[in-house]
Amino acid sequence: THFGFSEVPLNEKQGMVDDVFHKVAQRYDIMNDLMSGGLHRVWKDIFVSRVHPSKTGPFNHLDVAGGTGDIAFRVVQAGGPKTKVTVLDINGDMLGVGRERAQKKGLAKNLEFVEANAESLPFEDGQYDAYTIAFGIRNVPRIERALAEAYRVLKRGGKFMCLEFSQVEAPALAKIYESYSFSVIPQIGRMVTGDGEPYRYLVESIRQFPAAEDFAAMIENAGFQRVSFTRLTGGIVAIHSGWKL
Ligand code: SAM
Repeated sequence: THFGFSEVPLNEKQGMVDDVFHKVAQRYDIMNDLMSGGLHRVWKDIFVSRVHPSKTGPFNHLDVAGGTGDIAFRVVQAGGPKTKVTVLDINGDMLGVGRERAQKKGLAKNLEFVEANAESLPFEDGQYDAYTIAFGIRNVPRIERALAEAYRVLKRGGKFMCLEFSQVEAPALAKIYESYSFSVIPQIGRMVTGDGEPYRYLVESIRQFPAAEDFAAMIENAGFQRVSFTRLTGGIVAIHSGWKL
């Protein structure tokens, strides 16, 4: 059976997303490596190289849909001793894995883990120097709400950044990518977790996600300025950014 993700009512979508990540939390990191051939590490490195946390002063960073901490750890490592990163995720299992990893890496003192929804952040206005969301926003049922919340919690002069799957541009690559994602990804998912269905759903959600130009327009509509994007690896993923000015 094939998930018609577009046919899932908005209020059921979050529940499906949560099921997926509850199932995979313990194996999430190894799955990423297997499915992307390690590429997700390269994309995340490039993404975080654009964050520029302060090396000396305080830097208050929010990583939404932060899962097991991949982005947050990189920001802490790039920043100075006064860099504080809040990892926010709707799924306590993913955060639990993140917390353990943070301890092992000796990064726990710069990190805070918060279980909450990207659509309604439990923070006051104007608190953060930067907001990141990596491979998370396409799972959020009401993207406009998540963007509005990002805008609200950022300080003036704060930066919004998103790393997400996008649309592959070259037709030849698009074809290869299409067959890879629809057959290989669910197969790897079934081999590692015993169930390919959650991954079929994730692949479908990638297809549904707006093209880079359209997503940039959504970010502008939320109030952000100087919005721009960069495609990586032929458009398999894109980095979007904007400023609250
Ligand atoms: N950012 C991490 C990374 O790049 O490795 C994790 C990405 S993972 C593909 C997507 C994450 O989004 C999951 O941990 C999931 O629980 C979280 N998520 C889904 N819907 C959410 C929501 N409405 N609010 C916050 N987090 C959400």
